[in-house]
Amino acid sequence: MSADSAAQSVTGASLKAALDSPGIGDAIYRLATEIYPICRSITGEGVRETLRALSKHAPIVQHEVATGTPVLDWTVPKEWVIRDAWIKKATGARIVDFQKHNLHVLNYSTPIRATLPLAELKKNIFTLPEQPDLIPYRTSYYNERWGFCMSQNALDALPDGDYEVCVDSELKDGSLTYGEIVHRGASDEEVLFSVHTCHPSLANDNCSGMALLALLAGAMAKVKTRYTYRFLFAPGTIGAITWLARNGEAAKRIKHGLVMSCVGDRGGFTYKRTRRGNARIDRVMTRVLNDAKIIDFFPYGYDERQYASPGFDLDVGLFQRTQFATFPEYHTSGDNLDFITPDALAGSYRAVISAIDALENERRYLNTVPHGEPQLGRRGLYAAIGGDKDSYAKSMAMLWVLNLSDGDHSLEDIAERAGAELSVIEATAVLLEDAGLLRLL
Ligand code: ZN
Repeated sequence: MSADSAAQSVTGASLKAALDSPGIGDAIYRLATEIYPICRSITGEGVRETLRALSKHAPIVQHEVATGTPVLDWTVPKEWVIRDAWIKKATGARIVDFQKHNLHVLNYSTPIRATLPLAELKKNIFTLPEQPDLIPYRTSYYNERWGFCMSQNALDALPDGDYEVCVDSELKDGSLTYGEIVHRGASDEEVLFSVHTCHPSLANDNCSGMALLALLAGAMAKVKTRYTYRFLFAPGTIGAITWLARNGEAAKRIKHGLVMSCVGDRGGFTYKRTRRGNARIDRVMTRVLNDAKIIDFFPYGYDERQYASPGFDLDVGLFQRTQFATFPEYHTSGDNLDFITPDALAGSYRAVISAIDALENERRYLNTVPHGEPQLGRRGLYAAIGGDKDSYAKSMAMLWVLNLSDGDHSLEDIAERAGAELSVIEATAVLLEDAGLLRLL
C-alpha cells in the first residue's frame, strides 16, 4: 500500500484524534530519554546519532553540508569530533570525566593534553558559583579554545598540585548535519516546525522539542492535510542559516511556523509572537494556549530570529513551556530527565496539534466588493436582519465580517475582534456568501 493511500483524510475533531494517542506523553519522554545521553554539538556524530534515533519514529531525511560552504553571511564550520575528556591527578582516578557527563567538556573544545598546576587549570574551567552543585553548559563555537565545566563544589574540593588534563577532540573538515521531513498537503503553502539539535545532555532544552517533533511528524504521516508541513531538525543558528541559504524558494512558501524548545518542564506555556506580532499563527496560538504567557518578539532566543530576519520575514513564533533563560536549571546539569515529565510533554504535544487543527480548519473569506462598503440595503441585507432587538449587533457583525474578510482573518479572528459569538459571525458569513459578497478561500 502506498503511503498516500494509507493516509486518511480527516478534519475537525477527527484530525486531533488521529494525531493523538493516550500514551503520547510517555512515548515522547522515552524518546527524549533515549537521546539525552548523546553528546551533540553544532556539527559532528552526535547530531547524526540523534537523527538516527529520531528516524525510528518519522521518515527524516539527513542532509550534510560540507565544512567551508558559504551560507548567507556565514560559513559552515569544522566538524567537532569528541572521543573523551578528563582531569586527573598524576596517580589517581578521573576527577572530571566526560564519560560520566558530557557537559564536563566545553562544547566544541579544541584538543589538549597537558600537565598543569591548579591555578593554570582554573583558567580553563567554568563553574556556576551561584549554583555550586550544578555543571554549566558552555560552548565555544566561533572562538577556538579548550575547557572544562564542573560544579563549583567539586572545583573547591581540589587540592593544590599538578593535574593531567586531556580533551581528546578534533576539529576537522567534515560537514554540518540537519534533518528534514516534508509532509505534502493539498496546498503548496507550508507550515514550518523547527527544533534545535545542537545541545548535549539537556533534557528540556531540547531533547523535549526534538522528541515531540519526531513523534508528531510520525503521526502526521498518517493523515492528509490542507497545508504542506515541513519539519526541521537543525543545529541552532548555523543550522537554520544553512537551511535558509539552501532553500530560498521553499522559504517563500512558508506561511506559518513554530520553533519549539523547552516543551517538557512543569511550568505553564509561553508563546513568543512573530516579528509581525499579529500573524495568523499568533492569533491561533493565543487562542489555543489558554492562560499562556504571551511575549512580544525580540531578536534573540532560538531560530525564530533567523526566520524573521528581514530578507525572509517569515511568520514564525516560539512555543515553549517555561521561557528559556528564566528557569534556574536552564543551561545546567539541572536540566535533566527529572526536570521534564510525560504529562508536560503530552500537554505541549496536544497544544501543537490543536494549533494544526485550527490552521487546517479555519475558514477565511474574501470580500468580493472590497472597495468601499457594499450597499447592503440595495441587496436587502438590512431587511434580512432588521427590526428585531438584535439588529444592531447583527449589522455590526455584518460590517466586521465584510471589513476583515481580507483573506488574512478567519471567522474565529473576526469573532474575537468584534467581541461577538462565533455562531453569529458564522451565520453572518453564510448570509453574505449567499448575497455574493464573500468568497470562501
Ligand atoms: Zn539553549
